[in-house]
Amino acid sequence: MKNEGLYIRLLLDGTIKRRLVTILGEVPLADTTIAEELIGLIDTNNVPMYQAIKDIWSYTGSWIEKPIGLREFERVLGNYLHWLRNRNLIRYTLFMTTYEDLDEKPDYRTPEGSMKLANLLTESMAPDYVVDRTLYALSKQTAIDLDDEHHFLRESSCVTHYLLEDTMEEEYQFRNEEQYYIFLLQQYILTTPNLISCQFCGRYFTPKTRKLTKYCDRITRNSKTCKRIAPGLKKRERDAAHKVTSEFMRIKDMLFHRKDRAGEDKKSSVIDLADGEYVQWLAAATDARDRYLAGELSEEEAMAIIYVPTKDELLEQISSELTLETAATQS
Ligand SMILES: [Zn+2]
Repeated sequence: MKNEGLYIRLLLDGTIKRRLVTILGEVPLADTTIAEELIGLIDTNNVPMYQAIKDIWSYTGSWIEKPIGLREFERVLGNYLHWLRNRNLIRYTLFMTTYEDLDEKPDYRTPEGSMKLANLLTESMAPDYVVDRTLYALSKQTAIDLDDEHHFLRESSCVTHYLLEDTMEEEYQFRNEEQYYIFLLQQYILTTPNLISCQFCGRYFTPKTRKLTKYCDRITRNSKTCKRIAPGLKKRERDAAHKVTSEFMRIKDMLFHRKDRAGEDKKSSVIDLADGEYVQWLAAATDARDRYLAGELSEEEAMAIIYVPTKDELLEQISSELTLETAATQS
């Protein structure tokens, strides 16, 4: 039995008890809840990870042309893993256990093996994608479609341990981070959650009371929460904030779809979160949203950075430009 991994117990009140077992021993983790864990992942800015993996990709297989390439690859890979361990010990540990569980471990000293390893690093970002897509659907009250859109929610795998001392309590062991988040999403959906997105900052939250709550408790401007800032603003300003932040969420989801469907077999393709274009957009758009909320950018300035036209809008734009051009040449 392989010991390393993330162990969790679910209590009836929704609390998750967690412990992480690394090669160096057990690391205590704070209690959390399913909703907190899922929303927390979306709130985390993982752009630096995507950027680092994008960099690693540029070094893969480069020793075909340059003998020094392998040493460079080892250096960027080593730096990344060291950095990841300090930044996100759970993701690091579960990346290592996922690697350990591979039937065939890629030999990274070969050009093909280095690409396989970079692919594995890209896949280690998959939790961000599955959680983002599912929470977006839940917050929009869109049905969860296990046959298509949300096929990834169909199954998760973990090892169940029974704590036989005096109860039949179960403890689940995960050795892959995506499996852990899929499991949490499955449990979360079963509770028919009331997940809403804040009408000011756009981020997800679950209201504590049944009373209609529009704004969250996050600090967005001048060390004040959305709940304190938004009601004091003019309606026009509130509407503008809602537009900017909901457009940010909508476009992120649209880009996910675009990438997802770009694959040959959309059922098995995972979005490449280290994809250059996507990373660039996410970095710039997240920054623009946050600066807009902090009052540093105007609505127009923020939207100019966040906005990406849909395919139909692009086509319309091109055809109207063509019409103008034809009209110009005819006159
Ligand atoms: Zn908010």
